[in-house]
Amino acid sequence: MSKNQVRVRFAPSPTGPLHMGGVRTALYNYLFAKKNKGKFIIRIEDTDQTRFVDGAQEYILDSLKWCGIFPDEGPGIGGEFGPYVQSKRKDRYKEYADLLIQNGNAYYAFDSSQDLEQMRSQAKKMGMPNWQYNGVSRSTMKNSLTLPKDEVDRLLSSGAPYVIRMKMPRNEELRFNDTIRGWVVVNTNNLDDKVLFKADGMPTYHLANIVDDHQMKITHVIRGEEWLPSAPLHVLLYRAFNWECPEFAHLPLLLRPDGNGKLSKRDGDRLGFPVFPMNWTTADGELFSGYKEKGYFPQSFINMLAFLGWNPGTSQEIFSLDELVESFTLDRVSKSGAKFDPDKTRWFQQQYLRNESNEVLASLLESEIPNSIEKEKLTTIVSLMKERATFLGDILSEGDYLLAAPSDFDSKLIIKKWKENTAEIMLNWREEVSKITNFSANQIELTFKSFVEKNQLKIGQVLLPFRILVTGVSMGPGMFEISSFLGQKEVLNRMDNGLNSIKKMLHAEHH
Ligand code: GLU
Repeated sequence: MSKNQVRVRFAPSPTGPLHMGGVRTALYNYLFAKKNKGKFIIRIEDTDQTRFVDGAQEYILDSLKWCGIFPDEGPGIGGEFGPYVQSKRKDRYKEYADLLIQNGNAYYAFDSSQDLEQMRSQAKKMGMPNWQYNGVSRSTMKNSLTLPKDEVDRLLSSGAPYVIRMKMPRNEELRFNDTIRGWVVVNTNNLDDKVLFKADGMPTYHLANIVDDHQMKITHVIRGEEWLPSAPLHVLLYRAFNWECPEFAHLPLLLRPDGNGKLSKRDGDRLGFPVFPMNWTTADGELFSGYKEKGYFPQSFINMLAFLGWNPGTSQEIFSLDELVESFTLDRVSKSGAKFDPDKTRWFQQQYLRNESNEVLASLLESEIPNSIEKEKLTTIVSLMKERATFLGDILSEGDYLLAAPSDFDSKLIIKKWKENTAEIMLNWREEVSKITNFSANQIELTFKSFVEKNQLKIGQVLLPFRILVTGVSMGPGMFEISSFLGQKEVLNRMDNGLNSIKKMLHAEHH
């Protein structure tokens, strides 16, 4: 590994399914790694055992696989710096917490949860609702900074529960650069003494994250904006360890379509679009829908996600994953929140469906339908329907009349469209259709044109009722193509049956 090789990681916690914002974070990390000929690593951050959710890790890894985002190192893949699941690295963290105690950057705290609760409620009574364990309050608490050394030793050797806390420096102006946000400045007086190591023998997210990023030689930390408030602590931790700090890039939030607040997991199904890459069912049986099951292609999902917070600086919108790799730079990632747009999301899917070859779509369809349809027939159905479809499934549901004659007619439609002379026009037109010898779309069209002209009719007077008789609906792809696809015998049959049913229907209406 060269010394300057770019190494980035996506570090989800398995506390539930991966939100599309998480997929975007993984995607940007992946794009950045590939663009810079670096490595993309997945690390599972599961040190908070209380928030662990069964199946979440598998869900996260499967979702990325579905998206085509393949890590170079990670759980189930391996790599030089494994294991890539923090609970399996458990034994590594304590020595680093100890190191911080030794060099004066951390301390033991023995306060029970009741002690802390009491402090909080007292402070609240005094008009301070946000009590913190910090540079001021620590001097009144039960910790290795306030207790005599022999008392600390006694507590430790007696096995009294303790946590290890960061000793936040007082009144220091901390500055660090964020690739997307520029300089971030905070006064350390506003930061609390975060717990680094817990009473259960596990590190907190902060400690484990820094130790692992260091050990895994991470060069750039690209993650969601919700982690920006933790970044100053992280910078201080690097300093306390005397380690080189990676570069930070905090990605903009994903906002609701109306721009009002963060896109949350509840928004999706409430507003009618998925927020998760794949379906997720909670332990209580609640289903959250996913893009995969809705019929989105992973490529269109990824293309849409790439644009939530980034743009290429040109008008090109359709990008393959390789093209995204080629074009992606962090300096084109915006600072401000990215509004999720369901219509645009559907548009991307439409584009991908349209741009896919009829043969490929037919093969995909073939594997999804129960009764077999000849491949050639399926390919023609695809070519007829795909301009009107968003999802693969629309092709057969919208184009069901290409496989079977309409079973009934919408009486409202018929009453509106069937004029006095429609039946007669249709009978005459049927006669013409029966005489065509070469039943190609072209020949049918020529016959149609001369029929309309000869009888001085308007196109719609013939074409619309013809369409209704043959397809049962008033809209669809070209009627001459449809007719040719169905064949002369079928078209004549449908016309006869249709005319009969409609006659009965109108008769019944009059009585
Ligand atoms: N485990 C954190 C999460 O769930 C990772 C944050 C980071 O990338 O540092 O998002």
